[in-house]
Amino acid sequence: MSYKLNISTRKDALIKLMNVIIKHENEIIQALYQDFKKPPFESVATETGYTISELKDTIRNIEKWAKIKKVGPSLLNFPSTDYIVKEPYGKVLIIAPWNYPFQLAICPLIAAVAAGNQVTLKPSELTPKTSAIILKIVEEAFQHQHVKVVEGGAEASQKLLAQRWDYIFFTGSVAVGKIVAKAAAEHLTPITLELGGKNPCIIDETANLKLAAKRIVWGKFLNAGQTCIAPDYILIQEGMKSHFVDFMKNEITKAFGENPKESPDFARIVNEKNWHRLVSMMETKKVIMGGETDVEDCYIAPTLIEENNIDSAIMQEEIFGPLLPIITYKEEKEITKIISKYEKPLALYVFSDDKKFARKTILNYSFGGGCVNDTLIHFTNKKLPFGGVGHSGIGAYHGQLSFDIFSHHKGIVKKGNWLDLNFRYAPYTNNKISTLKKILNWL
Ligand code: NAD
Repeated sequence: MSYKLNISTRKDALIKLMNVIIKHENEIIQALYQDFKKPPFESVATETGYTISELKDTIRNIEKWAKIKKVGPSLLNFPSTDYIVKEPYGKVLIIAPWNYPFQLAICPLIAAVAAGNQVTLKPSELTPKTSAIILKIVEEAFQHQHVKVVEGGAEASQKLLAQRWDYIFFTGSVAVGKIVAKAAAEHLTPITLELGGKNPCIIDETANLKLAAKRIVWGKFLNAGQTCIAPDYILIQEGMKSHFVDFMKNEITKAFGENPKESPDFARIVNEKNWHRLVSMMETKKVIMGGETDVEDCYIAPTLIEENNIDSAIMQEEIFGPLLPIITYKEEKEITKIISKYEKPLALYVFSDDKKFARKTILNYSFGGGCVNDTLIHFTNKKLPFGGVGHSGIGAYHGQLSFDIFSHHKGIVKKGNWLDLNFRYAPYTNNKISTLKKILNWL
């Protein structure tokens, strides 16, 4: 069965998907809670609500995005009409991570379906309740040959990767991203890789520290720090540190109370393996707030760490949890030294009221995307591309770009027959060379 060219079939399928998601929204929220105590507010904001809004936007714009797009002709081809046709790739594989297990599975699916593809979706095995509800939703919303879900872990994923696909969209770690890229290379399959990295958060002496602390606490401890674009470490001007730490302590207590373990608004680490990984990064003597842990509950408190050694365990890899190292710098060149030690991150944040410094920081470093004076929120603007660079990923999506990445863009020239200029045809006389040079000069 082909879903290829029929826009109204795609649109109907998306409307159905939206209705099924709305019908099961409470179950999704419960599944997320069972998987890692994700607070219901965060589930609506970052999973169900976000996904429904993506669906609405896609349904509203699908005709516009799918339309054949006329472009200006080239003088070399005169007379002609030139246009771009967006063609579905065909069979698409989507592999999703566990940290936003619903959104990061369903949003690429929405775009792949909108662009006219058949989709196989593999959710993460580490959030089994969410994986099960994704399976239920997809089975209710789609015909099996249009979209199907394959549950399972690395083995299931590798079996899928051994097959031939027309496009692979992967969200997850750098290590598995490399496995996906290798498998894709076998068939020259185009890919999007949405990966991670160590995201710096720079604070200079002109920053509004109180507001910075509030926005960093939100962006870092949302989802218990298990966010690919969460600030990974703070780089703060030496003289500002103690004030900043006071503001951070205050904001953490305001958000999660004296004992964050009792807060209904603070999620858990996804499993014991990740809990151990995080705990092994924490050097107790450097903890300046938090540090409490409970393996039974996969709990780690929002934790601030005083760090002055970039060779320490916590500065070796992406943290991906509620631990926040704070590093000080005296001079700007130290910032460069630290950032350049790592691969290009997925996000970078700069807090500063000095426009020149903020601009220079944004232009100086290569990273996926980011914010000036805030964290995470660049993710929410559908007009901004979202993706990494270098080790943090290949390709970007969101909004129309999501539709576009799941489409092959075919360039077509429709040549007019009423005129056929002779100069491109052999024999190539000297006269023709000089005419060609003139035309190329005009273009
Ligand atoms: P992961 O790479 O361990 O797993 C992602 C997916 O790959 C899962 O579906 C998993 O089953 C599968 N997988 C695991 N091992 C595999 C293997 N050996 N071969 C084939 N498939 C395999 O990532 P994760 O732990 O689920 O997610 C965390 C990582 O994802 C972090 O690094 C984070 O930064 C990144 N991430 C990136 C984005 C983004 O948009 N760029 C979003 C969320 C998470």
